[in-house]
Amino acid sequence: MNKLVVMKFGGTSVEDAVAIDRTAQIVRSRVASGLTPIVVVSAMAKVTDQLLAAAAAAGRGDRAGALCITARLRNRHLETASALVSGDCTSGICSWIESEFAGLDEILRGLSAIGELTPRTSDMIVSVGERLSSRMIAEAFARRDLDAVHVDARRCIVTDSQHGKAIPQDASIEQRLKEHVLPQASAGRVCVMGGFIGATEKGVTTTLGRGGSDFTAALVGGGLDAGSIEIWTDVNGIMTTDPRICPNALRVKTISFEEAAELAYFGAKVLHPATILPAVKKNIPVLVLNSKNPMNEGTRIISLAPHCRSPFKSIAVKRRLTIIDVVASRMLMSHGYLKAIFDVFDRHKCPVDMVSTSEVSVSLTVDSNDKLPDIAADLSQLADVKYEGRKALICMVGENIRGQNGIAARVFQAIRHVNVRMISQGASEINMSFMIEEDDTEEAVRSLHEEFFADPDSDIFDVEALKEVMR
Ligand code: ADP
Ligand code: ASP
Ligand code: MG
Repeated sequence: MNKLVVMKFGGTSVEDAVAIDRTAQIVRSRVASGLTPIVVVSAMAKVTDQLLAAAAAAGRGDRAGALCITARLRNRHLETASALVSGDCTSGICSWIESEFAGLDEILRGLSAIGELTPRTSDMIVSVGERLSSRMIAEAFARRDLDAVHVDARRCIVTDSQHGKAIPQDASIEQRLKEHVLPQASAGRVCVMGGFIGATEKGVTTTLGRGGSDFTAALVGGGLDAGSIEIWTDVNGIMTTDPRICPNALRVKTISFEEAAELAYFGAKVLHPATILPAVKKNIPVLVLNSKNPMNEGTRIISLAPHCRSPFKSIAVKRRLTIIDVVASRMLMSHGYLKAIFDVFDRHKCPVDMVSTSEVSVSLTVDSNDKLPDIAADLSQLADVKYEGRKALICMVGENIRGQNGIAARVFQAIRHVNVRMISQGASEINMSFMIEEDDTEEAVRSLHEEFFADPDSDIFDVEALKEVMR
């Protein structure tokens, strides 16, 4: 049996000393069952957002604003560290935290004087969240009967230099993990590393994109051929939809890699879209588990999902999208037209989510972003352009929609009161997506959930939880 298990704990699972204590117990339970955990942690909840806000404030010259944010962060980390070591800072963790914040404040002061934030500096600042949490957690584990060592993720997660969304370099990562992590794990030690952060071959700090700690976990699992990857979060697993929208969402017990990847890509925040890939390549099962309810069996993501009676497994929602309509009667049927349009998006490094075309018009959807005016200006060289924000994409995923008749009719009947702007089905055989006004999201998701999950298949969904709610 492969004893290596990668355990990733998200922000809410390490949000304070109580949560970190719970995390230590979960890791200990894996050690007790004979496994060797490699722990990947996020920054404490909301820290990344606050570091980005501090960087942005400094970038626009607001020195006081930036330092006020870091003062609060510094206190929060010191309080947590101190609680974790019961006030005994002999290990030096508290003075180390002080010195990290002193360094951070120095960068922010310099930045506010210059008034310009580069992506490289932004990564440097934002990486502080995971650097702090991972050191603190390694220290807490060591004081809780775990033979834990801290590994600076930047020594292992080698990336290119696209700051903010750097691309991991698989071969180098594998080699570095074998150098810095495997010997420790083979000696039975629990390595603790920060997620989300990496470094170029030259050692410049980079980050993998928001939510990137899941990605780190999969890279570590893939690089070391782990037996499984566990994603510990604040819900019982992958649910039939975001429980914040639909409180009666059900846990999905088993889902295929393909379905999970589709859900993650189309907005189910519970997993980072790139998480699945390294696991798929090596066929490593991924589990999504709840650190606040560790006895729950969670969701198991495996290569082939068992048959399910219902057409869909889950409904994902992606908000803050913009629809761009490109209309060009003069281009009617001319070849090279679509290529020219996509070249514009490519030049601006702007991914397109959904496309629909008619004879003369092309509609595309993208994440709302500040490059849109420039993109529209470039597109207007080719055609007439209109764009409209505040849209949401609903994506219904399930392997069982292949070859079933009448599903689209049921979907659109369920949301007949909602204005549907664009529809896509068939591009992927396992998803049906459509675009609506952002304000209609909750109503649409609840109606669809009611239509498709009122009579759930108990082999696939946790109906027991539903019975408990009804009691
Ligand atoms: P972490 O900090 O552990 O990475 P995230 O906040 O990134 O956690 O992801 C967990 C959140 O994802 C949940 O609290 C839930 O609101 C949201 N979510 C969205 N869609 C789903 C879904 N289909 N199943 C479960 N959670 C979902
Ligand atoms: N801390 C990072 C973020 O908030 C990465 C992660 O949590 O996965 O995006
Ligand atoms: Mg996450």
